[in-house]
Amino acid sequence: MSVPELTCAEFVEEITAYLDGTLPKDVAVAAEEHLAGCPGCRAAVAQWRTVINLTGRLTEDDVTNADPLATDRLMTTFRRLRRR
Ligand SMILES: [Zn+2]
Repeated sequence: MSVPELTCAEFVEEITAYLDGTLPKDVAVAAEEHLAGCPGCRAAVAQWRTVINLTGRLTEDDVTNADPLATDRLMTTFRRLRRR
C-alpha cells in the first residue's frame, strides 16, 4: 500500500479532522507518516491536543490564543473550512 505524502500545509489543513479522528483512513495514515518525520507538526498536534483537553473542543478563540507561529496557518484553515 502506498501512502500519499503530505506537506506541512496539507497536514495543517487536515489537523482539526485529524484531532477529531474523522480523517479518511488513507489520509490518517499519511498524517501519521508525516508526523513521524516532522517535529514541527508533532509540536502543533501536541499543542492542539492540550487545547482540546483544556476546552473539550476546538474553537476559533483557541486558535486566536494559540502559538502565533501556528495561528496564521490555522486561521487560514478555519476560514477555508467555514467557506465550504
Ligand atoms: Zn509537517
